[in-house]
Amino acid sequence: LGGSISRVIQRMSNATIINDNVFDECLNEIARALIQADVGIDLIRHMQANIRNIAIFDELCKMLNPGKPSFTPKRGKTSVVIIVNLQGSGKTTSCTKYAHYHQKKGWKPALVCPDTFRAGAFDQLKQNAAKTKIPFYGRSMESDPVKVAVEGVEMFKKENCDLIIVDTSGRHKQQAALFEEMRQVSEATKPDLVIFVMDSSIGQAAFDQAQAFKQSVAVGVVIVTKMDGHAKGGGTLSAVAATKSPIIFIGTREHMDEFEVFDVKPFVSRLLGMGDLSGFIDKIHEVVPMDQQPELAQKLLEGSFTLRIMYEQFQNILKISPFGQVCAMLPGFTDELMPKGREKESQTKIKRHMTMMDSMTNKGNSSPKLMNESRMMLIARGSGHHIREVMELLEEYKRLARVWSKVKSLKIPALSRNMSK
Ligand code: GDP
Ligand code: MG
Repeated sequence: LGGSISRVIQRMSNATIINDNVFDECLNEIARALIQADVGIDLIRHMQANIRNIAIFDELCKMLNPGKPSFTPKRGKTSVVIIVNLQGSGKTTSCTKYAHYHQKKGWKPALVCPDTFRAGAFDQLKQNAAKTKIPFYGRSMESDPVKVAVEGVEMFKKENCDLIIVDTSGRHKQQAALFEEMRQVSEATKPDLVIFVMDSSIGQAAFDQAQAFKQSVAVGVVIVTKMDGHAKGGGTLSAVAATKSPIIFIGTREHMDEFEVFDVKPFVSRLLGMGDLSGFIDKIHEVVPMDQQPELAQKLLEGSFTLRIMYEQFQNILKISPFGQVCAMLPGFTDELMPKGREKESQTKIKRHMTMMDSMTNKGNSSPKLMNESRMMLIARGSGHHIREVMELLEEYKRLARVWSKVKSLKIPALSRNMSK
């Protein structure tokens, strides 16, 4: 066995790229060695699937971690930060959130609005600033954006602000003019850090967009917005690759406090369609009575996804608000069970599933494998539903059980940590 493994490792390290073929051959080589060592075939298959999942998971984590931020502001030392990307990405919202986040930790942030192109830009940032009580500098339209930026930065430097954040316009009559203006604002204000703010739903286009910005200004970190939506955020991989910059924060709704420090593992598990499991567990901690938590946590961690667990999860979901936000976090629940914008219907569906489960005599032992037509009829009649709906429920159960066994096989450390707290 040792000989085979070392051959595999050698093969992996000789390969110029580890593509699917190389990977499969290596897995097969390991499998052959294990068969010869009398390891059961089911166990080997299971292990192969796990290795594949873990490898994919780790690889994605690595791709999202291209190194350290180019610069990290320090409290008490003046830093100038400029925020860039196209209109609508979430820049103005994110720069206020970023300022507010630091203000809560005792920093002295300030906001500068050099966007004199779009009517309303000035008012939007000014209102955000007022709401969060953060000093603001801007001028109404027709002024020179570069001049406004420099005036604002100079003024706040004199006031000893330690985090001076410059929002940029993101729109112009022509794309070339936008980049030119941004370059000038950057040259004039000499930022310590350039933040690229991207909308999580942008998808494939993210690479070209991020690269275009990186070529004009020295992007150093990324903030991803609108992670509360249903987008899984695949475009972030492209943006990180194009800018070679790490993600530092994610925006999770429109409110000023809905801003989180980026955490790669839940992000990747969501990207893979497995939901933000650790976020979900946190929510569970909020709503499930303390004395019931260890039991539920244990059951989830063991991953034996019984009908009873599904029932308990449904109960929890119905307690948590806002409904849609939670569903986006829960493995397997995102697209299939609750499509976006149809939260009411989804809620009704869950309640229907629950009334059917109520008429099962023993949810714990009601294995779908043992479910024959006459038992299904009994459940249908007992709960006042059609047998078709009982079959739907069982399909739903099987699908969720599959997702959960996948989740379990990943052994996400954040999950175990949350479980044991
Ligand atoms: P800018 O044009 O790049 O400055 O983008 P804005 O900050 O004006 O944001 C565009 C829209 O997206 C606004 O309606 C914001 O309220 C909204 N928005 C920004 N961040 C988030 C977020 O994290 N979640 C959600 N749901 N909406 C966001
Ligand atoms: Mg804006």
